[in-house]
Amino acid sequence: MNIIVTGGAGFIGSNFIYYMLKKHPADRIICYDKLTYAGNMETLEKALTKENFKFIRGDIADRKAVYRMFEMEKPDVVVNFAAESHVDRSIENPEVFLQTNVIGTSVLLDACRKYGIDRYHQVSTDEVYGDLPLDRPDLFFTENTNLHTSSPYSASKAGADLLVMAYHRTYNIPITISRCSNNYGPFHFPEKLIPLMIINALSDKKLPVYGDGRNVRDWLFVGDHCAAIDLILRKGRVGEIYNIGGHNERSNLDVVRTILQELGKSEDLIEFVTDRKGHDRRYAIDPSKVRNELGWEPATAFEDGIKETVQWYLNNRDWWMGIISGDYQTYYERMYDNR
Ligand code: NAD
Repeated sequence: MNIIVTGGAGFIGSNFIYYMLKKHPADRIICYDKLTYAGNMETLEKALTKENFKFIRGDIADRKAVYRMFEMEKPDVVVNFAAESHVDRSIENPEVFLQTNVIGTSVLLDACRKYGIDRYHQVSTDEVYGDLPLDRPDLFFTENTNLHTSSPYSASKAGADLLVMAYHRTYNIPITISRCSNNYGPFHFPEKLIPLMIINALSDKKLPVYGDGRNVRDWLFVGDHCAAIDLILRKGRVGEIYNIGGHNERSNLDVVRTILQELGKSEDLIEFVTDRKGHDRRYAIDPSKVRNELGWEPATAFEDGIKETVQWYLNNRDWWMGIISGDYQTYYERMYDNR
């Protein structure tokens, strides 16, 4: 199969590329990525040594470039990871989120319509469901939960999901959608909670925790997400949405404390900062459908995954030092140092 992976120079897309190169060496992977601040060619260094891997720099919202890529590469499958993905940035500047996440998705779907495709898979998020109250641990997001977005990021992802469903219904494009909970693992960009806390703790910098730190996220090791997408591509039913999550709910404060313990650092580093606007309280996925239909189970316990992740950041300082020394520094100061 010829598989186009958009956004493959980012966190989950790159992990997916490595997963696929190992698991399905007969497939050909073409990574199409704009290389925004979140994309990093160093992440793909090892993939670039493989004969069945190719990188093309391009924007999913650039119609001419996307059509050219379809004509050249003749994909059987498209997996769309490309997105603006950081909620805080969407609050600062929503426009680019609409451009990439909504318009970009529509251009990819148009290309599938024009050239034909065996499967278009949209990588979506549990954030399209909004949030759940902290005092109702019995509630979970199912695939039938109403879309109820809180941030420009989640609204743009929900908009993309609706387009994907509409292209299936109207043009019969063979689509699937996965909505996953929060991921963690190697190559996670330093602005996100877990890498931010590891990197700050390693430098004995303050660990900025939003609000009261009680917000709950449902954490999944990135490799388990990749395995689920691979299963959906091969066995999932066309036109269906699959929620992905491992019933691993933790408050942000618990996650930060676990990281500090792993690194042998003091909890005095924790600093509570002004809460994010519209901050979702709790996400929790009901993964029954992907489990029952496709037999997917997460393979990594949080305790093991977090150890592995902390060790990865210890072993790969050059990767993240390169990022935090550039433009990212200005962003960090604006977000946390001047609050
Ligand atoms: P990321 O920000 O780490 O990577 C995004 C990648 O997309 C980058 O390589 C970037 O260069 C590329 N990109 C951005 N705009 C582009 C454009 N216009 N054209 C082509 N490439 C472009 O994101 P991530 O955390 O790896 O998330 C990947 C996908 O998974 C996103 O669609 C996100 O909504 C979804 N998701 C993420 C999580 C999570 O916890 N990180 C959870 C569920 C779903």
